[in-house]
Amino acid sequence: MARAEIIVDLDAVRDNAAVLRQRVDRPLMAVVKADAYGHGLLPCARASLAGGADMLGVAVLDEALLLREGGITAPILAWLGGPGEALTRAIETDVELSVSALWGLAEIQAAAREVGRPARIHLKADTGLSRGGATPTDWPDLVDATVKARASGEIDPVALWSHFVYADAPGHHTVDGQVAVFAEAVDIAESAGLRGLGKHLANSAATLTRPDTWLDMVRPGIACYGLDPLGGDPASHGLRPAMTVRAEVALVKRVPRGTGVSYGHAYVTDRETGLALVPIGYAEGVPRNATNVGPVWVGGSRRRVSGRVCMDQFVVDIGDDDVRAGDEVLLWGPGTQGEPTAQDWADALDTIHYELVTRIGGRMIRRYVGGDA
Ligand SMILES: *Cc1c(COP(=O)(O)O)cnc(C)c1O
Repeated sequence: MARAEIIVDLDAVRDNAAVLRQRVDRPLMAVVKADAYGHGLLPCARASLAGGADMLGVAVLDEALLLREGGITAPILAWLGGPGEALTRAIETDVELSVSALWGLAEIQAAAREVGRPARIHLKADTGLSRGGATPTDWPDLVDATVKARASGEIDPVALWSHFVYADAPGHHTVDGQVAVFAEAVDIAESAGLRGLGKHLANSAATLTRPDTWLDMVRPGIACYGLDPLGGDPASHGLRPAMTVRAEVALVKRVPRGTGVSYGHAYVTDRETGLALVPIGYAEGVPRNATNVGPVWVGGSRRRVSGRVCMDQFVVDIGDDDVRAGDEVLLWGPGTQGEPTAQDWADALDTIHYELVTRIGGRMIRRYVGGDA
């Protein structure tokens, strides 16, 4: 047992991929960016592939190269790069690249020429998110340039794609609007000669709620880790949260009524009570605004962070319960023992579970269970 650790259930990651893959019955790109949303890049990539994922998605090229160095041979798409990236390395290792602008296409083509083999690219349309992708105004030029580049043999366009603004509100008008803008972008590409390419749009929310957006492949991220992008119960989709965050009580003490707790005395005891010291803090990614609101499971019941979250520690008012140094504290987990979930934390802190699972870490160790752990 460790002072503080993140337990990742690789069987849950594998099973979630299998549930999603079966549901959509078409290729699935498991998104493993940001260290697999804080769950561990390589083990989660392997578990997702074991569950039937056909491809992996990452944001930046370094993540793709780490996957290759880790022996992952599945197709990988990396979609976020600036000028001057290690593109020859990407092409040599069969990493597929997203293209949103003419300069990006030119850089990839130059790198492909240097390597001596074609680069596989996914042309990205900006259908309304105003993040990556070419706007409807810029799209026809990007398509024409791609058709020319393909003729050189240096560029192999394999897919057309885009990303949703607000699929976590499935009935939101932007979803239909983006589907329509994407259909126009596809028409333009096909008229210009880019036919038979794969098309993909759906993140987790769309994978769970909008079959009309599944097209030729889906790209779920958060759902692979068992969290519901719609803020509901993941079990209703057959998903299981993979992450448990646990620590061990470092110290317990009795204090009188009126005792101020932690920096600024943001919590004051309203009776004689017990306090338990938990040895993780914002350096581990416990948000400082969990002060007085973050739910924790200690000694068989749910309590709250009492007073400020410090860099290395926080305190929990345990009342008169028999909690001892060394006892387990759960911040979040699948919820099966009554412990809070990452969704409960998100609700208490007015954020999303994506942010919580991705930022937790620091000095905590990560321990894998299940899979080939
Ligand atoms: C992060 C990301 C995804 C996955 O999103 P989830 O909401 O976690 O399913 C898919 N596509 C792109 C472009 C992304 O950036």
